[in-house]
Amino acid sequence: MRQSRLFLTTLREVPADAEVISHQLMLRAGLMRQLTSGVYELLPLGWRVLYKIEQIVREEMDRAGAQEVLLPTIQPLELWERSGRSEDYGPLMFRLTDRHERAMVLGPTHEEVITSLVQQEIHSYRQLPVILYQIQTKFRDEPRPRAGLLRGREFRMKDAYSFDLDEAGLDRSYRAMFEAYCRIFDRIGVRYRAVDADPGAIGGEGGTHEFMVLSDAGEDTIAGCTSCDYAANIEKAAGQALPRADATATPAPQTVPTPGTRTIEDLVRVLNVDAGQIIKVVVYVADGQPVAACLRGDHEVNEVKLKNHLGVRTLELATPEQVLQWTGKPVGFVGPQCGLRVVFDRDIWSVTDGVVASDTPDAHDIHVVPGRDFPVGETADIRNVREGDACPKCGGSLRFYRGIEVGHVFKLGTKYSKVFGAVYQDENGQERTIIMGCYGLGTTRVIQAVIEQCHDADGIIWPMAIAPYHVHIVPVNTADPAQQQTAEALYEQLRSRGVEVLLDDRDERPGVKFKDADLIGLPLRITVGRKAGDGVVELKERATGQVSELTLEQAVAQIVERVNPSR
Ligand code: ATP
Ligand code: MG
Repeated sequence: MRQSRLFLTTLREVPADAEVISHQLMLRAGLMRQLTSGVYELLPLGWRVLYKIEQIVREEMDRAGAQEVLLPTIQPLELWERSGRSEDYGPLMFRLTDRHERAMVLGPTHEEVITSLVQQEIHSYRQLPVILYQIQTKFRDEPRPRAGLLRGREFRMKDAYSFDLDEAGLDRSYRAMFEAYCRIFDRIGVRYRAVDADPGAIGGEGGTHEFMVLSDAGEDTIAGCTSCDYAANIEKAAGQALPRADATATPAPQTVPTPGTRTIEDLVRVLNVDAGQIIKVVVYVADGQPVAACLRGDHEVNEVKLKNHLGVRTLELATPEQVLQWTGKPVGFVGPQCGLRVVFDRDIWSVTDGVVASDTPDAHDIHVVPGRDFPVGETADIRNVREGDACPKCGGSLRFYRGIEVGHVFKLGTKYSKVFGAVYQDENGQERTIIMGCYGLGTTRVIQAVIEQCHDADGIIWPMAIAPYHVHIVPVNTADPAQQQTAEALYEQLRSRGVEVLLDDRDERPGVKFKDADLIGLPLRITVGRKAGDGVVELKERATGQVSELTLEQAVAQIVERVNPSR
């Protein structure tokens, strides 16, 4: 491609509303533009990257035995009402009404559509197993679109669905998809980690893993063990229970005035205690009902764990007015004996000399021991792990990492097949429910996840497999006939060998061309300068900055070898 003809404008300035580096570079390197909040146009360079990512995904899905389909974007809302997910997705779904007043949605995902399709098409065990996938635009009216393609409202996803006879079959399909994901991310050239995850709104009974690209721009926190391979999303991560401590020496409780203390920090200061001694109560509304969570002051409620424990659909913090109405106490003065249903965190037992809100107004009780001074009933692991907590697998120490979720594999079981009546007849003519799995991979999000890992102060550093072009040819002075001819000759030779080349044939100053080349970040650059007359050019590797002077033949041979276009 001749750069003079390319639909591309690079930007020198950092766009004001882009905070995350990959978002800035997408705009600056001319890969995309914004149409409206969370909605972007991919320009030629950006589209080429996406195309290559999706092609790798396609090849690895096909290799794993999955079959490609294309499902509709427009879906009847009725399907979502049947599965019960209309409510779960709520305002996240773009909803519309057709001319016959029928409620429709723009698909945020496709479990409902594919299960109702399979229900119609599959009847016998002979037709199973099958894995179907598509690569398609998805729509989610995200409450906080951010960081460009990392969280868009319109984005691209590969979604695959497996249909099996039994659990053993599902295990095989899940493994095949898991391994395909590893090959995809290896081929793309990004560092990732597969972590244990919570099933979230998709629901389901079995295992689930998220594929995370490690990056500080990520919204997810991963707890990983420093000694073994345990890694889990913080939503799911569990440490080992803290030891139940000996409190026999603790004196009898005593009430002390604590007016105006609203927070844990206030209490720590006023009472001169550790946050870990304070026993706090956080009041929630769970499916409309009040529920209290009781845990140590230095621990945080994990709302996903609490929600799972309660088996509820919605969980929100109660307002101060609700707290007052339900407990008769203001926020900060609610104790475990508040009269509500209380779920205790299991590590409450590690408190030996605690502080709780007193029955006396504006006061707290000190020297309190759980179980001795108040009853501990319903108990579960409802807190976030902390760095330094013991790994559940090996007892080692947990550490936090930030990650961008680029893929997710779930064992769904029969959640959707039951609802949609997706059944098959087994060898004995018995009717059985199909066992499902689903496997998402955000292809537009991957573009930026890669940039987060692959950039420097000058711009992007594309891995070869997904670079918009393999090589950038930059003649320093296009007015010099020797340089121009050499650049043209290289351009033709490389293209005829299957190498994708961007030729900077613009009449620009060398400094401008080099800045743009670094910003766009093609893996290899050939600088055609004064030595062109002697048949010598310079080959520069974007990632390392390594430069070598080569004859044209050597340059072509080395590039062809590096690009390996036959792959
Ligand atoms: P998140 O927790 O980041 O919102 P999710 O759990 O909602 O993700 P899934 O429903 O499992 O995501 O979707 C599968 C994949 O689609 C994700 O792993 C991610 O790569 C991608 N994805 C999801 N939401 C978005 C979005 N708003 N913008 C871009 N990619 C997305
Ligand atoms: Mg989401």
